[in-house]
Amino acid sequence: MSQVIIFCEHYRAELEKLDLTSRYDDLEIRFFPGRCGMAPVDWDELRSTLEGDLDGKTLHVISSGCIGNLPEKDQQVFQQYNYTLSQCLHMIVNPDLADFYVQQGYYLVTPGWLQEWQKILSDWGFDQKTARAFFKDTARAVMLLDTGVDTSARSNLKYFASYIDLPAETVTVGLNYLELLLNNTVLKSFVDDNKSTALKSAAEEKKSLADFVMALDLLNSLARVRNEQEVIESIKDMFTMLFAPGEVVVSGADDRLFQSGELVKRIDDDSFSFNIIGTGGLVGSIEVKNLQFPEHREQYINLAARIINICGLAIENARHYQLVKDISDTDGLTGIGNRRKLDDHLEVEWRRMQRSKSPLAVLMCDIDYFKEFNDLYGHLAGDDCLKEVARLLADHCRRPGDLAARFGGEEFTLVFPDTDLQGAAQVAEKIRQAVEDLQIAHEKSGVGKYVTVSIGVASVIPSYDQNPDDLLHRADKLLFEAKAAGRNRVVS
Ligand code: GH3
Ligand code: MG
Ligand code: MG
Repeated sequence: MSQVIIFCEHYRAELEKLDLTSRYDDLEIRFFPGRCGMAPVDWDELRSTLEGDLDGKTLHVISSGCIGNLPEKDQQVFQQYNYTLSQCLHMIVNPDLADFYVQQGYYLVTPGWLQEWQKILSDWGFDQKTARAFFKDTARAVMLLDTGVDTSARSNLKYFASYIDLPAETVTVGLNYLELLLNNTVLKSFVDDNKSTALKSAAEEKKSLADFVMALDLLNSLARVRNEQEVIESIKDMFTMLFAPGEVVVSGADDRLFQSGELVKRIDDDSFSFNIIGTGGLVGSIEVKNLQFPEHREQYINLAARIINICGLAIENARHYQLVKDISDTDGLTGIGNRRKLDDHLEVEWRRMQRSKSPLAVLMCDIDYFKEFNDLYGHLAGDDCLKEVARLLADHCRRPGDLAARFGGEEFTLVFPDTDLQGAAQVAEKIRQAVEDLQIAHEKSGVGKYVTVSIGVASVIPSYDQNPDDLLHRADKLLFEAKAAGRNRVVS
């Protein structure tokens, strides 16, 4: 039965690059004109403009609300599968990651969109002034999700970004996710229709097809995991499930085993290993050892070869997520954690200490007479002072789980897990002394010649009827007492 994928014109270059039609018998791809930001096109109207006959074929309509009145099943077609994504960007990058970028204030664009940006803006009725106002309201920067098929994408991005006067960034997403989506849709229907013979390669038996579909499901969920270690664990689980090996070893590119060259692509009697390649190159390798059914090795290797690049994508996704997260968790001036990082970290440590019934300590630290410092030496000197104090605080975070963050203004918060009140008060006193010892001149300080801090210290074994905010409030109240008692002191 012939199958037809119906897809947005803006992704033509990507689909042509993937060349699915050479992989599957009787598969065609038809494109509909991009509708970005415009009213949806009615299915009946669209149907008549798509070249060629659709009657009696299996349709896969992949869209994101660009097609209106899409029937669940067109009377003339054999079978219809509608894949309506909430955003068409979700075709090339996993939804969580796309949403995350948007939350970070990025306006996301694709190479296909950028080819038409002038037409699209004019369709929206924008001139440069209204376009600038619109994008300034919507985002703080533009991000190109680069699929790598269009060499003009980056220069188009530059042109577009300067037109709307926003900074531009690029992230390489490649074609793996799109391939996953398409293989998933097409293959699933092959399985549904029991049409596995439609696959070109003779080696593709039903069993391996079913395995592949299962792998795709697993991979789909894998692409959503954000932590590299978790991705690696999931990859191990998946390979264990698929190939019943005695052991699976996954190593990242910075892994010692990997760097020493011990893990290179090779195939032995009862084991095989692969390099994991992402869009940006090598990301790691995987070794599958002691196969219980080595007689299926060829089949295993075929399947592994097809899913391995998605594993690379998942690892890359996790790394990129971490990178963006690190940027958004960092205070721009001092380079230590910001309020968001503090909240996240405190939440995690609160729960960890709750489980282990250990004390969690918080220090609230505020620079004394800092307004006067700024007034006397200027804001730039003030900024330098904040940086120095921040560095000193970070230097006092020695154990894993310790954190120094900028709470706001000239106020800092330190988190010390597994630390009781006495221990925390000792560290606080050390910090207070160390700041004084920096000997940053402050002639208008009410407590001496140098910059000083006041610190409030609280520690608690987290209970279930309290939350991290209670602990912060408590430390803040004690900080206030330290101020009232004369400043340059610790109150716990
Ligand atoms: P106290 O001893 O009671 O803490 O008095 P204070 O003057 O330190 O406190 P106050 O809250 O009155 O003033 C805080 C000052 O911190 C005011 C503000 O100008 C300054 N400040 C806040 N953020 C920054 C910053 O990012 N850079 C600089 N240079 N100064 C900042
Ligand atoms: Mg202050
Ligand atoms: Mg203050």
